[in-house]
Amino acid sequence: MNSRLQFWLVFIVLFTTVAESSAWGPQGHRVVGLIADRHLQPQVKQFIKQKFNINSLADVATWADKRRKKRRQEKPWHYTNIAEGQGTYSADRDCPEKACVTEKILEFSQVLRDRSATIPEQAKALKFLVHFVGDVHQPLHLGNQKDRGGGSLHFTYRGRNVSLHYLWDGGLIDWRRTSLLKYAERLNGDLSDIVIWNASTVVDWANESRSLALEVAYKVDEGVLSKAYIEKGQEIIDLRLAQAGVRLANLLNSILIF
Ligand SMILES: [Zn+2]
Repeated sequence: MNSRLQFWLVFIVLFTTVAESSAWGPQGHRVVGLIADRHLQPQVKQFIKQKFNINSLADVATWADKRRKKRRQEKPWHYTNIAEGQGTYSADRDCPEKACVTEKILEFSQVLRDRSATIPEQAKALKFLVHFVGDVHQPLHLGNQKDRGGGSLHFTYRGRNVSLHYLWDGGLIDWRRTSLLKYAERLNGDLSDIVIWNASTVVDWANESRSLALEVAYKVDEGVLSKAYIEKGQEIIDLRLAQAGVRLANLLNSILIF
């Protein structure tokens, strides 16, 4: 490949990454998969490997984002935008067509549970679940409709103009500082609330995100990201990635043990 072409490919990849604004970044999704791997029951891990040829959930964690690029109708499956002023998720009000992240988690859980579904259908459902349980934990995936979950609010961060949504997708984290495996291990080493985390429903996960969006993510001074805001954001992203990983494993354990 000639160097000019290489330059443009790198440019396109970088630009697409910065412009992308409706999912945890690939790093966040992989971290969720790596944490979930650690919490799968051994027989469930074995079952996933044998039946679907998936060794690590991290390997399929970004599959749904890749296919979304060619299927625009799937884009809304990754989030639930909520009318401003509403503090909690309501399926009837916020997702009447059932084409949003919360309802898709319920739908694909049913497919995975359904013993009459074909293996390709179940594999697809599993891969969607790995991704969407991550997405529903990103606070701005339960953001406001009017600003597209922070997608239309822009800030300068580390010298680049980026959206608030991008920052909460993981842009606030300096992913170069450590390997994803070490990052996941660090989050996984500090889990004292697993039992409480697992005693929750998909709607609870959505409502937690909604309240973090309103109480933290949107509470930002116009145009300025303070040090305190950045640190709080990083702390919450860590927490949400850990919760997503633990809950994803718990969901798969409950569906696939029989
Ligand atoms: Zn997504």
